[in-house]
Amino acid sequence: MKKNIRTLNIEQMQTFLKELGEPAFRAKQVHEWLWYKGVSEFSSMRNLPKSLLEKLDESYHIPKTKIYTEQVSTDGTIKLGFELDDKNKVEGVIIPSMGRYTACISSQVGCSLDCTFCATGFLKRERNLTAGEIFDQVNLINAITMERFNQKLDNIVFMGMGEPMLNYANVIESIKIMTDMKGLGFSGRRITVSTSGISKMIVKLADEELGCRLALSLHEANNEARSRIMPINDSNPLESLAESLTYWYNTTKSRPTLEYTVIEDVNDQSSNSDDLIRFAKQFPCKINLIEYNPIIQADFKPTEGDNLEAFAKKIEEAGLIVNIRRSRGKDIDAACGQLINNN
Ligand code: SF4
Repeated sequence: MKKNIRTLNIEQMQTFLKELGEPAFRAKQVHEWLWYKGVSEFSSMRNLPKSLLEKLDESYHIPKTKIYTEQVSTDGTIKLGFELDDKNKVEGVIIPSMGRYTACISSQVGCSLDCTFCATGFLKRERNLTAGEIFDQVNLINAITMERFNQKLDNIVFMGMGEPMLNYANVIESIKIMTDMKGLGFSGRRITVSTSGISKMIVKLADEELGCRLALSLHEANNEARSRIMPINDSNPLESLAESLTYWYNTTKSRPTLEYTVIEDVNDQSSNSDDLIRFAKQFPCKINLIEYNPIIQADFKPTEGDNLEAFAKKIEEAGLIVNIRRSRGKDIDAACGQLINNN
């Protein structure tokens, strides 16, 4: 059986090619085709001799990620279904906004956490995505924005399926590939890792010096209530999150974003905004209030109109930075918390 060539790092590639009698610089060329140009066939590696391509093809294969489905929302949001080499599926979203394009990408097939408001949480976690599969999503989405809008992708957010901190090594590896100037060359500041809140991994990420941004899916700022909708809070309570977010800010000098999905009669009361203000005042941060997107698996409703505005106003009056994030791609189940491979 042929092995996945992307499992070789550049040193291992050099060793393999040396055994084939090839010069050391060939390893760099193969590496660039695989990771910076994202080719899916050995025959596309145009500057390599045919004899070498044949030898590579005898022992290795390049795993393919392909787009198997696409839906376009009335607001321009595009939802993509990606089929991985082993036929597992994940989803990604292209969100256009004021001439800029953001890719929302997945890090796991399914998710092992059970956030009660999120459709993905109702899927079993099948496996982690490899760094290559994470990179493929970005590469394919970037090709779409280039082709259709004549524009490179602007931002990347790890807010699709899965918890990125539970696939840490591959997520970090993929960010290193995305930010490599020889490849897509994204600035770290344009990449946001969003987590449901795994305190020690937030600290670890701060120490990586990747320059990326951090978002915490908070949604409740009272331990008992948060544990009810996000069971991960039992092992990572708010006190430990506040500590790790303080460490994040002190280390990176980048304000973490607190994502707060506002759900009617669940977390939109005056006591909830009091809790949120208390929590957010412990470290510099920004707050995004997100319109809840209904899913068939749960019986929650969004807080709308004046109530949402009033919730935001109270937080603003407390001296905090707050934005309301309107739902995008709701009509095609592409909005936050709606990704479930339903095509
Ligand atoms: S919100 Fe994120 S961590 Fe929670 S179930 Fe959904 S995908 Fe998993």
